[in-house]
This record gives sequence, C-alpha cells and structure tokens, in this order.
Amino acid sequence: MPCRETPCCRREEMVDIDRELLPALEQRRQQHLYRTRHVLTSPQGVQVETGGRSYVAFCSNDYLGLANHPEVVKTLQQAAADWGVGSGASHLIYGHCHQHHALEEELAEFTGRPRALLFSTGYMANMGVIRALAEQGDHIFEDYLNHASLLDGGFLSRARCKRFKHSDIDDLEHSLESVGNTGRKLVVSDGVFSMVGDLVRLPELAKTCDQYGAWLMVDDAHGFGVLGERGGGVAEHFGMGVNDLPILVGTLGKGFGTFGAFVSGSEALIETLIQYARTYIYTTALPPAVAAATRTSLKILQRESWRREKLQALITQFRHGVEQIGLELLPSATAVQPVLLRDDRLVMEVGAALRQRGYLVGAIRPPTVPRGSGRLRITLSAEHSEAQVDGLLTALADGVGESR
Ligand SMILES: *Cc1c(COP(=O)(O)O)cnc(C)c1O
Repeated sequence: MPCRETPCCRREEMVDIDRELLPALEQRRQQHLYRTRHVLTSPQGVQVETGGRSYVAFCSNDYLGLANHPEVVKTLQQAAADWGVGSGASHLIYGHCHQHHALEEELAEFTGRPRALLFSTGYMANMGVIRALAEQGDHIFEDYLNHASLLDGGFLSRARCKRFKHSDIDDLEHSLESVGNTGRKLVVSDGVFSMVGDLVRLPELAKTCDQYGAWLMVDDAHGFGVLGERGGGVAEHFGMGVNDLPILVGTLGKGFGTFGAFVSGSEALIETLIQYARTYIYTTALPPAVAAATRTSLKILQRESWRREKLQALITQFRHGVEQIGLELLPSATAVQPVLLRDDRLVMEVGAALRQRGYLVGAIRPPTVPRGSGRLRITLSAEHSEAQVDGLLTALADGVGESR
C-alpha cells in the first residue's frame, strides 16, 4: 500500500509553493519515476508485513539477519535501561559515552586498524571525511558508480571532482596524470557497488594510488559482514592493511543490522576527523544503547561464519536459477544480486507482479542508476531458506513472462 501521508495527496491544503512543486511531481509520475513508500507493520526480516499482507522480502540490506536478532534486541533493551535513550549531546560536548568508546575500540580491532571513529550515519561519514580531507586546490577522483553520499562529499568539499569509468584503472590513471603534482589527491570508491554488487579492484587501485601519491578511501557499506572469513569486508577479502587502504568506511545499518557508521584508520586520520569533520562535530551522538547493541552484533557477525556460508550458498542457487530463466545478471558475488531489465516500465511491472505473488524486491530506475539500466535489486539474507529463493525464481519467471 503506498503511503497516503504525502502532502501532495491532500490537495485541499494546497499552499503557495505547491503551484510550482506539483507540475514537477506530475512530470515524474509520467516518466514512471515517482517514488512512494510502504508502511511496514512488522519488524525487519525475511518475512515482513505491509498493507495487511505478508511478504517474503528480498530487498533488505540486513544481509546476515541481525536487525531483529534476539541477542541484539536484548542488549538494546538492557542498555536503554542502563544508559537511557538519547545521548543528549555531540561527541565533543560530553555526548561520547563508554558504549561509543568501547564500540570504537572493538571496530578498530575488527578492521585491523589503530583507531575507529563512529559517525551517526554512513551518509554523514562520507560527507564529513571527504570534506575534512580535501580543500580548494585538491583533487578527488570518484568511481562513476559511487554511492550518492561519496559524490555529495566531493561536491561539498571545495576540491575539484572527477569521475572515472567504473572500475577502469586506465581511466583513473589518465585522470591522475592530468592533474600533475598540484594539491592532494584522494581516490574514492565503494567497496561493493551498491547497485551492481561487484567488488572494487582493490589491489590495483591501491597500487595506482601508491604510484601517483594519491590517498585511497573505500566505503565498504555492503561488504562488511558478508565478505572475508571474519566478515571484515573487502579489506579482509583482499588482505589490505592500513598502509594500502588508509581510509576505510563501514556502515552499521546493513550487515551489522543496527544503525550508524564508522571510519577506520591511523591515529592521525581519526584525530584529524575529530578536529575537522563537520558532520562528526555538529551532530548528536548515536543513542548509547544502539552502540551497545552494535557491540553484540559485531560479536555475532564475527563468530557465526555459518551466516556468510549460508548466504554464499543462496547466492549460487539464485544466480543459477536466474541464468536458467534467461535473464540478465550482473557480475556480483555478494548479497546484492540485481536482475537487469533495462526498461523502466518493465521494472515497475515485474516489481508489481512479484509483489502480487508475495515477494518484495527493489525496483531501481534512473536517476539512481544510469538511463536504460533499470533493474530489480534483489538482496539475499542468511535468514532466507532455499525454498524461499526457489519461490522467488518461479515468481520471477512468471512475472517477466506476463509483463513482456
Ligand atoms: C547505504 C550506504 C551508505 C549510507 O549509509 P547510511 O548509514 O545508511 O547513511 C553509504 N555508502 C554506501 C555505499 C551505502 O550503500
């Protein structure tokens, strides 16, 4: 059920600015790009409820099934009793409590780096880090498919931003060469590209950065928990220490199943961020109980490697099934498994057909992805069963057959 709470639906309450806003909304609707929300009436999980109906969800970033894990929930409850709800202030003005500090120390150890710093969201971490590290006269190089928050971080800084073709090291080298030796150079990339599911070419990228004296920053929002033996993401997968990959960002709202984000790196990097990252300084610290719950989820994430193994088995099953149907997959070995349909209308129709059959998937259209590359963004979780994945495959085959 689309949410009916959007102001544009209550026309009788029209105000002056609406005269200008409404035509643009109408245009978006006609382009099949209009976005609506659905109200969930259940907790996050592989089985969710919305609009009075139950669905199997293949659209969550809760890849390991920790968002509603009983141990994580219990920690949050107990920590709320012990630490209250709000943190009351920013980290620098006595909002930084023991739970935040302990989580930072555990995240530093987990990522094999000297220090880690908590941010309230991944979006803020990326904007804050890039702005803090680059100023006028510097150069930022972004992969073409980087997450919006990395791109916005570049725009927000006063450095010159360039985008290189997706995972194209030659194109990056060409750009690095063109700026010569003026200013700092910061190369920025997703670890796992969120709309494709493929991995950053980390060893090559690190080597190039070394050659050109550039700094490397990787945002591994979708890799943590999923990749690496202990869930350490692309850095663990490729065995990249703090020298090769000095600026490592992770988010806590995906594989970790909670909320927030962190940056791992050297002592000097973290101290620099504490001094200069505006999205760190001028915002309220996370609720302490969320930090406490994340400490529990970090333990489970490392300990229960069966979750990663199960996920990999489901990924193999899913990819095999999609190939048999004859649909187009992207080169992904992660929990993000997009099915490329290309046509915006088809994306919407197949999305609706799946919903009718009881499956929820992400229907992704421009401007989130380039024009003509509309896709279903299917994400798998360690909590899915083989039968649920088979059910989705059958529904997908039927839905596409019907809509074409
Ligand atoms: C989700 C995501 C973010 C944003 O993280 P939030 O904590 O949700 O703000 C940043 N980068 C990437 C690559 C993401 O996928």
